[in-house]
Amino acid sequence: MPQVSAAETAAEALAPLRADPERAAVLTDIDGTLAPIVERPELAAVPDGARAVLAELSGRFGIVGCVSGRRAAEARDLVGVEGIAYAGNHGLELLLPGDSEPRLDPSLEGREGAASDYLEQLDAEALLAGGLRVEDKGPIQALHWRGAGDEQAAAARAREIAAEAGKRGLEPRWGRKVLELRPAGGGGKDAAVGALIGIGKFTAAIYGGDDRTDLDAFARLRRLRDEGHLEAAICVGVVSDEAPADLEEESDLTVEGPPGWLAVLRALAG
Ligand SMILES: [Mg+2]
Repeated sequence: MPQVSAAETAAEALAPLRADPERAAVLTDIDGTLAPIVERPELAAVPDGARAVLAELSGRFGIVGCVSGRRAAEARDLVGVEGIAYAGNHGLELLLPGDSEPRLDPSLEGREGAASDYLEQLDAEALLAGGLRVEDKGPIQALHWRGAGDEQAAAARAREIAAEAGKRGLEPRWGRKVLELRPAGGGGKDAAVGALIGIGKFTAAIYGGDDRTDLDAFARLRRLRDEGHLEAAICVGVVSDEAPADLEEESDLTVEGPPGWLAVLRALAG
């Protein structure tokens, strides 16, 4: 696996994108890829250097897009670059340049409120008494229990809710002391990549990511290439101590943390 440690090496690997930037897509995960991982997600920050290079790329490349599990509007606030696309909520929301409201994944049609309807009949106050705080992410509803008086009891209640929700067409996804409920099917970073690439006529694309969900994006990019929609697809693994074991295997290039990915973005701009 080639390690891209210098901008020169990256520049060579990136030739297919730089050859025709207007027909190339530059896609990036945010947390752990653009922004260093921090203990509390609300404290995450995108370095000014990354912001500047994204703004520069947006003027030259066909599309620049950020792909995140955060809500699309939150992703846009965090990255703070106008003129680029934001796919949020694990691919369920898409904010294109100039959009004031996110577009929802068409597969959600008629089910946008399914998760919140389900939680509503459980009653927020009753949930809170059981140690579960509801975070309204639109089509996704999250239940958090970090810091609850009895975290174990709250987690047990979350498991019951997940089992029940599963019978009602909702898909439970587990994070660290959080349960997310969403309408089953649709979304995912693979869907986000498909939607972004589908916006224009692109011949090459690059995607940088650091985590398991980014492997779905890699897979979609490769499928688009294998099916002839793209001539070149470059999957860049942003590695760290916490990276999933298969990230390196699945990457065309690996870089060390957000600074390594920033070097790639600069090579694309330079
Ligand atoms: Mg990440």
